[in-house]
Amino acid sequence: MKNALEELVLEVYAQLRTKHPEFCFCERCHDDVIAQALNKARPRYIGGSPIGAAVTRVSLASDQARAEIAVAVFEAMRRVNQNPRHGPEDYVPLGAGG
Ligand SMILES: [Zn+2]
Repeated sequence: MKNALEELVLEVYAQLRTKHPEFCFCERCHDDVIAQALNKARPRYIGGSPIGAAVTRVSLASDQARAEIAVAVFEAMRRVNQNPRHGPEDYVPLGAGG
């Protein structure tokens, strides 16, 4: 089940990856980047109640929140690509997969 934060992380990642074709974009690296970015940004997520979710959704729409999440996502991209969970033979350049 997705929350507002995950939706924004996925959106920011989709934008960042077009600017950084040097990174691997296979499914494993994608999942690692999203997981690490979510872990880093999670304290900002107020989960549970519908009210909390609504407030989070609004606050996540701010430029400040988007900028901070972009930093978290990019750091995760760099970390994952420095230490991918596979060898270079499994490297997937941007545009090769879905
Ligand atoms: Zn990969």
